[in-house]
Amino acid sequence: MRSTKIVATLGPASSDPAVLERMIRAGVDVVRLNFSHGTAADHEARAELVRETCRKVGRTVGIMADLQGPKIRVGKFKDGKVPLKPGDPFILDAACALGDAGRVGLDYKELPRDVKAGDVLLLDDGKIVLDVREVRGHEIHTVTRHGGTLSNNKGINRQGGGLTAPALTPKDIEDIRTAARLKVDYLAVSFPKSGADMYMAGELLRAGGGHALLIAKIERAEAIPALEEIMRACDGIMVARGDLAVEVGDASVPSLQKRMIRQARELNKLTITATQMMESMISSPVPTRAEVSDVANAVLDGTDAVMLSAESASGQYPVETIEAMARICIEAEKSQTVTLDRDFLDRVFQRVDQSIAMAALFTAFHLKVKAIASLTESGSTALWMSRLNCGVPIYALTSQTPTRYRATLFRGVFPLTVRYVGHDREELLAEAEAVLVKGGVVKEGDLIVLTIGEPIGKAGGTNTMKIVKVGEHRGS
Ligand code: PEP
Repeated sequence: MRSTKIVATLGPASSDPAVLERMIRAGVDVVRLNFSHGTAADHEARAELVRETCRKVGRTVGIMADLQGPKIRVGKFKDGKVPLKPGDPFILDAACALGDAGRVGLDYKELPRDVKAGDVLLLDDGKIVLDVREVRGHEIHTVTRHGGTLSNNKGINRQGGGLTAPALTPKDIEDIRTAARLKVDYLAVSFPKSGADMYMAGELLRAGGGHALLIAKIERAEAIPALEEIMRACDGIMVARGDLAVEVGDASVPSLQKRMIRQARELNKLTITATQMMESMISSPVPTRAEVSDVANAVLDGTDAVMLSAESASGQYPVETIEAMARICIEAEKSQTVTLDRDFLDRVFQRVDQSIAMAALFTAFHLKVKAIASLTESGSTALWMSRLNCGVPIYALTSQTPTRYRATLFRGVFPLTVRYVGHDREELLAEAEAVLVKGGVVKEGDLIVLTIGEPIGKAGGTNTMKIVKVGEHRGS
């Protein structure tokens, strides 16, 4: 069984229903709809196809909408692209309609106000580097430091960050309405700088009737000092290593990844590690040794999920990539020692549901039970449990469909449906056991740890832990 979850971006390579089905069977837990490409109708059709395939295959796969955000880009060229050599002068001109060898337009018209002489601009994920010499009105005069072919709509970052573009563009606001209408399970916000950006996205989502959990993509230099504030304003983060590496320098990213994952776990938040994890598998049926190590290290860092971008959206081997990623995750998890007793040191339990979750982990670990079953309405107890590794699988048993889909991203948590909606405790426990037995998770005589909120059927959090021998659920 694999605890770390796999997020796969959908695109042309995964549009064919047969390929999508193979990807889901190979282990995709959450699909990502990338709102940087395609129309609302495209996303709706993809979401529908995913749901249809899940019904067919009998798996629960979450859906994440990922907003484009204020990606600052050059405009288009007359010939689609231009070559730039070291030493070439080049102008970024907010008033230029169609670019040529000497200048190109900007879709973010404020850029000349945000930069000054001496700044370094990184284009196309840092492949091209321009030194700013002078800003004249709407023109940024630069000299090429590292050249290359600059083509239409490539992104621009300033080294060190500091561009003033707001996190939510008018397109993002419209896309949040679409995400709410599609009832996605996760909404990823690109380039947030502060907690306020995340609160605003959450309000827009709820106003549109959405219930998604919010993920902040950490990809701006300014987000690093604001990490705790951003995390407290959302449900999880994505370590978006592509843009982040451009802004803070690639060498800083590995230690930031470790720090972010640790901090997120301490604050009861989710983490997704993203970008170039299996990049070579876009065109190769096997990963490089470095990619295998990268995925395994993210697992050892404690990430909830590892993410595929172009590998599954436009690569030649989407199914093989997922199979390889799943295999690497399982092997890395096996090599991890459970240090629960040590992990508990210095932990402060402030909430009743958190305390029950921790008690369940501790008991499950020491009694070496077969499974933890968390009967949950919102999924929050299962989330608390999944912040520490006790080496025992956690089953989130819920009658709430949105909760089942959200739990797809929680590391070590496997969502299952209980249909019982009455108020009788014994009947509910019997149904929970029956679901676990039917799912092949436990058998008669196995010991399990169960958590539940009492009285049954009344709103309120988890407040009870029970140790149950399967088949004798009246014992404690
Ligand atoms: C990233 O920059 O690493 C990332 C995941 O964002 P996007 O794919 O939207 O550029």
